[in-house]
Amino acid sequence: MFLAHRTWPELGDYVANESLVVVPIGSTEQHGPHLPEGTDHMIAEALAREATDRTDALCTPTIPIGVSSHHRQFHGTMWVEPPVFRDYVESLSRNLTYHGIDRIVYVNAHGGNVAHLREVGRRLHDDATAYAIEWMWDESIPELIEEVFETPGPHGGPKETAMIMHIAENLVRRDHLETARDGGAVFDYEAERVHGATTFYDCLENSSNGVFGDQTDATPEIGERLFEAAAEQLVALLEWLDARPIEALVPQPHLDPKPGSGRDSEPDR
Ligand SMILES: [Zn+2]
Repeated sequence: MFLAHRTWPELGDYVANESLVVVPIGSTEQHGPHLPEGTDHMIAEALAREATDRTDALCTPTIPIGVSSHHRQFHGTMWVEPPVFRDYVESLSRNLTYHGIDRIVYVNAHGGNVAHLREVGRRLHDDATAYAIEWMWDESIPELIEEVFETPGPHGGPKETAMIMHIAENLVRRDHLETARDGGAVFDYEAERVHGATTFYDCLENSSNGVFGDQTDATPEIGERLFEAAAEQLVALLEWLDARPIEALVPQPHLDPKPGSGRDSEPDR
């Protein structure tokens, strides 16, 4: 069920019985010479819409711009500062709870958003406003990604290329797949560390064309397999979350300082 296409009485019927919402979140940033800047938010939206269609859960419109300043040297990359992003997502999440929502899944397709969505989830959890969790599509299917690609690459690599081939094939510049591979890098996070320290900040320091991995390994068929597998994981997560009692989703109370005394947790004065 897509919120933007529904009327308010229809949404009233939804929250009379349900309290779960899915928020697709991505980025608008460079994805090399072969993929569109909207790659991440298009992937997030496609998976969120698919899983919510299958489960009848509610899907909000997509948040298309995230934390991407590490791609800023490349034309077209858009970003907002992390505190602005966190506050914006927190605000719209709190406002969803005003309508009766108490559980939220951020369907995410951009690594730079992860820590910030976790922070928003923590804020909402700490004061028991809502239970909100971040779900990153490729982290739901690591074995499959490992199986189908030799060098998946963390950004603009064959996994995202295959996904866009499946979702919006006409937006993939097929004549630039080899350019993408040859001008990019094979990224090894550990090899980039110096005496235990992470020493780089911007994508451009590791890849002159902004991407990693072997994009020529991507096919629409592999994209369909990845999409199906990730959609299945997301459906299972939504069903799990929908079935959780609210008591299991709120923070545990503080430990009793005098266990077994029958007293409440007020300290002696
Ligand atoms: Zn991406």
